[in-house]
Amino acid sequence: MGNKELPHHGHGPGEIALRVRRLESLLVEKGLVDPAAMDELVDRYENRVGPRNGARVVARAWTDPAYRIRLMENATEAIRELGYQGRQGEHMQVVENTPDVHNVVVCTLCSCYPWPVLGLPPAWYKSSAYRARVVSEPRTVLEEFGVTLDEDVEVRVWDSTAEIRYLVIPQRPRGTGSLSEDELADLVSRDAMIGVALAGKPDSRS
Ligand code: FE
Repeated sequence: MGNKELPHHGHGPGEIALRVRRLESLLVEKGLVDPAAMDELVDRYENRVGPRNGARVVARAWTDPAYRIRLMENATEAIRELGYQGRQGEHMQVVENTPDVHNVVVCTLCSCYPWPVLGLPPAWYKSSAYRARVVSEPRTVLEEFGVTLDEDVEVRVWDSTAEIRYLVIPQRPRGTGSLSEDELADLVSRDAMIGVALAGKPDSRS
């Protein structure tokens, strides 16, 4: 995508990605970095370090009603309370799943994503297939991710931009009343906070 033509998205990942790739191949060529180590680093920020932050926000919202209200009213500030802030996290909004509404997030034009709470976006989030299909056939896409919703559940698709980045608060699973905030956070995956998965069951913790 020609992000430079889309200034309202506020960043140029195309150009940045190109510069990063050039830098990476230069470093590998000179024997300064190990490509496997680079992959490991990216994997860590994509799957582990990044989404842990968002999971803590969700767990706090599940356990602290006053925090949940602050989060719903001003997500950027409430997320900053927990120490998470920075680029691509300046204009946050949370959308809460309920028994009647399921939320899912996309960036239809490029790959806007809330870095401070989710880390780096996964490859599929940036794919043109996801960006187009989750808008035109969200239920089918969700089923492909393993999420089957009842007919009467409304699906809301939120389009991220530089103006606003979304974080999905999944429904708190049943049978988690006795879990600590840390244990609850372990049930909250990156995909659940994008809206393409549900929170895990207590016995499915990895
Ligand atoms: Fe974008």
